[in-house]
Amino acid sequence: MGLNFNSITVKTIVHILFFSTLFVLFIGFVTKYIFSAAYLDLENEKVRIIVNNIKPSIALNLSYGFREAITEISNKALENKNILAIKINNYTTNDKLIFTKDIDSISSLEQDNLLHKSTLLDPATDKTIGELKLIYSKDSYESYMKKFYQWLFFGIFIFSISNLFLASILYKSLKNLSVLDAALKAFNPNQPKKLNLKISIGDEISSISQSANIMIENITRFLNASKELNKKLFQSQIHLKDAQRMAKVGSWDYNFEDKSLILSDEYYRILGIKLHTILTWQDFLSLICKDDYMRVYKEIQNAIRRGSQFDLEYAVILHNGKKIYIKSNGKVRKKQNGSMRITGVSMDITNDIKNQKTIEKLAYFDGLTGLANRTLLKDRMTKAIQNAKRTQDLLAVIFLDLDHFKLINDTLGHSVGDELLAYIASLLKTQLRESDTLSRLGGDEFVILLPIIKDIDTASNIASKIQQTLESKHDIGTHGLYITSSIGVAIYPEHGTTSDELIRNADTAMYEAKNEGRNKYKIYSQSMGNFVDKQLNLEQDLTTAVKRKTEIEVFYQPKIESLTQKISGAEALVRWRHPTKGLIFPDDFIYMAESTGLMVELGNIIIEASIKQVQEWNEFGFNNLKVAINLSARQFQDINLVPFVASMLSKFNVDGSQVEFEITESISMANMPTTFRILTELKELGVSIAIDDFGTGHSSLAYLKKFPIDTLKIDKSFIIDIAESDEDKVIAQTIISMAHSLGMKTVAEGVETQTHVTLLKQLKCDLLQGYFYTKPISKNDFITFLKEY
Ligand code: C2E
Ligand code: CA
Ligand code: CA
Repeated sequence: MGLNFNSITVKTIVHILFFSTLFVLFIGFVTKYIFSAAYLDLENEKVRIIVNNIKPSIALNLSYGFREAITEISNKALENKNILAIKINNYTTNDKLIFTKDIDSISSLEQDNLLHKSTLLDPATDKTIGELKLIYSKDSYESYMKKFYQWLFFGIFIFSISNLFLASILYKSLKNLSVLDAALKAFNPNQPKKLNLKISIGDEISSISQSANIMIENITRFLNASKELNKKLFQSQIHLKDAQRMAKVGSWDYNFEDKSLILSDEYYRILGIKLHTILTWQDFLSLICKDDYMRVYKEIQNAIRRGSQFDLEYAVILHNGKKIYIKSNGKVRKKQNGSMRITGVSMDITNDIKNQKTIEKLAYFDGLTGLANRTLLKDRMTKAIQNAKRTQDLLAVIFLDLDHFKLINDTLGHSVGDELLAYIASLLKTQLRESDTLSRLGGDEFVILLPIIKDIDTASNIASKIQQTLESKHDIGTHGLYITSSIGVAIYPEHGTTSDELIRNADTAMYEAKNEGRNKYKIYSQSMGNFVDKQLNLEQDLTTAVKRKTEIEVFYQPKIESLTQKISGAEALVRWRHPTKGLIFPDDFIYMAESTGLMVELGNIIIEASIKQVQEWNEFGFNNLKVAINLSARQFQDINLVPFVASMLSKFNVDGSQVEFEITESISMANMPTTFRILTELKELGVSIAIDDFGTGHSSLAYLKKFPIDTLKIDKSFIIDIAESDEDKVIAQTIISMAHSLGMKTVAEGVETQTHVTLLKQLKCDLLQGYFYTKPISKNDFITFLKEY
């Protein structure tokens, strides 16, 4: 360690040495001066006293000329060891009397010692008669001064020693400061070491260095902790990145102060932007699709104003033109100092939105016309009825059916028929208000809901206006088509209080209009209920039929593996062989069985017959065939369903794997927990579960995932036009890929042509069912079919 002349150490020591030297010199001079002057005064005083003693007698004897007496006096005086010589000048005689101890040179004595002169006066005349010189030894003064110097030097010595000691203490202490200084300067946070200073305990500087050591220990600990933290942070950052990548979630942070926008790697990936490209807030916002921009911008501005959170879904157009959907959760963070930032996470929900849109479309909208379907209509009707009940208003249901539409379809083809339906839909829309609901129930049946009307006349006016609009020539493609329609109207609450009742009665009124020669509208009236009486008779017949069992028959329609074209099983479809009316199809009596409480009993007859049939097939050597049994909502509510199925399986010794149950989406949606339980119990028997008519009801991916479902049956309405309609093809394709991604099989029903078979095979649909192979046939015919296929 080199000494710096600016260091306190050197300065302090130089100060001490300089000033103490000055001090010592000063004290030396002052004391010497004072002490020697005082001593000399004392000596002079002594001499003066001696002179005063001897001077009168010497003067007297000199005036008388008594030399002996003078000699005697002088010799006597010389006895004082300090008196070295006495010199007397006699002015009268000009004699010089000199008395000395030794006969040294008197002049040298005078020089080296104290000399006292005094005039001698004649005692009688007071005249000057001579001079007395007394030479007084300086020895005692000198020995006194010698002693004085000895003590002075001793004092200076002690003082210097103590100063040196002080300087050394200071030097040592201050030197430690420099060591400390150097150590602090050399301190490297990457290699923290203790300051290893050898400093005696109790010293202030040692205490400082101990403090510095403690500080360094703390810093070391802090550094180690931050290193550890950094490591963890780094790890968790990697985890976060992985998690973001897996979840397709990106995060971002915008700082208003320095206008910096930071995106996570995954968000760059989601947005299709090169990693770490610098984006401004404006660039970022400009990615938002035009249609969503203002809404999103306003929401964010609101959140900024309130310092609140926001939750947004919007579309983003990527650089490659692709449109993706983003869900962003953000938070505005305002600090008291006025600084502000927005942080958020954003998720790519494109697939969800697409699935949701497909499903919503399947669930609520008619694919062909984009109008509401039956589900949505009923939903809106239920709400409108509730509302009307509250406000005591009327509402109207208009049932519209095109006249001779079937003819157009059969002669000009499906595509013209479809085009016409779409055209009619758009035409009808122009006649209605926003609040009205226009729906298509299927085929050429349209139902319009007018949620609030003043009176029945209003409904009549609208019906007649619609009819007039339709009643003219319309150009559809290259064809000019003349269209008329039949309309039935039912009014709430007069003609019904539920959506089903109102639709049914509007339908009855429409039939009445058709019966009266078409191109008419009819308001429902009780007298139209003739039809109802017929139903009543049929209901009674059904009760008997279910009791007797013999009139109930089960037909079978094969399901064919699309890949191998092998028969994998058959759907069991009930028929009623009525004693007088002949073969009645399920669409004409199942609803009746449901509404009269016969369904469970009827269902059990079908289940028993179907399982028994499997046993028979097995015995004929057609093992491995699976029978698919339709289950209605009522059967699903029967607590004995599962035990009954189990007992049938064991009664006919059939394995559960040879039985499948087809349920509709509405059943599964009705009471989710119960559905889940019953399905699970059924599955425990080894049977499989299919969702029937998939695509026509309420579907949500969420419940499909939750339930133990094995198969989706694509509704035949999507299959019929699959070759012509791109939309139907996309729907079928979506359902198939969705089912496969959830590990389910797909069955297409309504397969009528070779084109259907080829197309569905391409789309990787697993099983095919339809008239192309055969209509549902009796059990005997089915056995023949099996043998001949
Ligand atoms: P579903 O379950 O959708 O049955 C398929 C219906 O489509 C059958 O009508 C069948 O004859 C018909 N079909 C089969 N292939 C084709 C085709 O290629 N083209 C066309 N256009 N139609 C085809 P079905 O037998 O009249 O049954 C009608 C509905 O009655 C069934 O629809 C089902 O919901 C119900 N059902 C039938 N049997 C039973 C049963 O045993 N129990 C219950 N609960 N319901 C049944
Ligand atoms: Ca079915
Ligand atoms: Ca079906």
